[in-house]
Amino acid sequence: MTIYVAPSLAAALDALHDYGPAGAIFAGGTWIMRSPIRHEPLKGHYVAIGRIAELKAVRIGTDALEIGAAVTHTALATALAGLPEFAVLAAAAGHSANPAIRAMATIGGNLAAADFAAADCVPALLCLDAEVEIAGHGGGERVSLAQYLKIRSTLAAGRLLCKIVVPRTGRKTAHIRLPQRKAGDYAAAIVSLAVSLDAAGRVETARIAIGSVEPVARRWERLETALVGHRLEPIRAAQTAGGLVDEFVGRNSVDVPAWYRVSVLPGLVRRAAAAALGS
Ligand SMILES: Cc1cc2nc3c(=O)[nH]c(=O)nc-3n(C[C@H](O)[C@H](O)[C@H](O)COP(=O)(O)OP(=O)(O)OC[C@H]3O[C@@H](n4cnc5c(N)ncnc54)[C@H](O)[C@@H]3O)c2cc1C
Repeated sequence: MTIYVAPSLAAALDALHDYGPAGAIFAGGTWIMRSPIRHEPLKGHYVAIGRIAELKAVRIGTDALEIGAAVTHTALATALAGLPEFAVLAAAAGHSANPAIRAMATIGGNLAAADFAAADCVPALLCLDAEVEIAGHGGGERVSLAQYLKIRSTLAAGRLLCKIVVPRTGRKTAHIRLPQRKAGDYAAAIVSLAVSLDAAGRVETARIAIGSVEPVARRWERLETALVGHRLEPIRAAQTAGGLVDEFVGRNSVDVPAWYRVSVLPGLVRRAAAAALGS
């Protein structure tokens, strides 16, 4: 196995192009290092992207937040501290895994790891209406995160997720994860929430994304629709969620049965609504 430390994005794309299917990107390595545990073969060639300055930048503009794919969870949580509209993402990046892992794991790797159902940044970015930029030897494109999640496992080996773009909407946000232990654990279920409220406290727009319950995180659009036009009251939101929760088919694992992941969702919705309201 070889590791090539790319000095620039262009060099990384060239190397990935040359390696073809035998090559892959190496970001934080925290998912790749556990390939043997998942009985997955390692690639012959890795292209490390951690030294590429443009992939390590966080830009907080007036209209949008731009995050380079190689920004670590720790760096992202630090950059977003004190911005309530991105509290959901700061919490996702700042409370996943443990401090040592957060210092290495990147946001790009979090979105690109196709079989990682418990990735924290995926639901957080879904509820923020994020888009991603994908670069390749022959050019680039920007797609919604939801679309990227559909195509990521079929993308050619030379395609590199280079940037995440999040519009600034000023919504109130929260990220609630339910681990089995206090830290260092995958969440059994995740609720990420972003809402805008009118002057009377009624919900104008709602985005709610669920992670770790099914193989891939997704928006809970029926719950979003049901909350719009009503005051955001945590207990009522949980009751509404309880009436809609049967649309989820949980995933079974050794530690957590499918039914448990689904049954905790109303309670997590209540906690997310309360956190977004600051109570
Ligand atoms: C014990 C443990 C517990 C953890 N718990 C959690 C948790 O609860 N929640 C959580 O969110 N994270 C958790 N993580 C971290 C998790 O592994 C990372 O969040 C992430 O999924 C991998 O990021 P990485 O930068 O290490 O990616 P890598 O391991 O470097 O790569 C992962 C995959 O993505 C591909 N890839 C990487 N970057 C790109 C890119 N820019 N474009 C295209 N493809 C790319 C790689 O080729 C590889 O296939 C945990 C890690 C460990 C070790």
